[in-house]
Amino acid sequence: MLEIKDLSVRFQGNKDDALSHINLSFEKGEFVCILGKSGAGKSTFIRCLNGLQKPTTGEVYWNNHSLFDMNEEQLRKIRREMGMIFQHFNLVPRLTVMQNVLTGTFGYRSTFKNLLGLFSAEEINRAKETIEDVGLTDQINRKVELLSGGQKQRVGIARALLQQPKVFLGDEPVSSLDPGTSNHIFNLIQDIHNQHQLLTIINVHDVHLAKRYATRLIALKDGKMIFDGRPEEFDEEK
Ligand code: ADP
Ligand code: ADP
Repeated sequence: MLEIKDLSVRFQGNKDDALSHINLSFEKGEFVCILGKSGAGKSTFIRCLNGLQKPTTGEVYWNNHSLFDMNEEQLRKIRREMGMIFQHFNLVPRLTVMQNVLTGTFGYRSTFKNLLGLFSAEEINRAKETIEDVGLTDQINRKVELLSGGQKQRVGIARALLQQPKVFLGDEPVSSLDPGTSNHIFNLIQDIHNQHQLLTIINVHDVHLAKRYATRLIALKDGKMIFDGRPEEFDEEK
């Protein structure tokens, strides 16, 4: 469902590629973890998958349609099918859990709709359900700035889920959380992944987390793919 052909990214002024000639294809049901040190190209890769980053060369095909041939309207539609969670959560601190979930990952215009109370009863009910799914019903009307890191990421997950995505993308979603909380969050992501039969692709820098949860592991080093295979076959010494 997602196909990456000869993808390279070089940022202006840089001598080296941030990503270099990546070829991959992903299917529904895969739980992919992307491993690599800081600067390996993980974030750039994830941003190419949802069209936030334009590659220097190469293509990303979403169900056989090239992302970079699409206009903004078409891209927006595709992005709604891709739920995204972030290292720093990207929430609006002064809004409540409910308001953040309704706001949507990319829909800053909907913040106003939100504040003006313009959501339908159905939208509000669906938001309540996703908040329940992530275990935050008792915090629903609290401001996000008052929550713990783990709870904030749960809000991020609920917000992504509200879009009923087919793909779940995570850009280091547990890098600012402690190990125990990281495990809770990965358990939740795994439950959601299994329940909705998603394609999940998540950047991590913790080998143990990647090995525990991934069905497929990809390692990047200096923008190049150095491993693509089963987690148990990955030798972290290399
Ligand atoms: P990771 O997510 O694995 O830490 P990144 O994808 O953020 O890696 O970065 C890959 C490489 O691209 C790094 O060398 C980084 O310095 C460079 N890079 C990332 N974003 C930019 C940018 N906006 N401008 C210039 N260089 C960038
Ligand atoms: P924190 O950052 O506050 O530690 P966690 O992500 O660790 O946040 O989760 C807080 C608590 O919620 C944990 O004790 C965890 O067991 C519990 N929890 C996890 N998943 C759910 C769920 N789906 N519904 C209700 N509670 C949950």
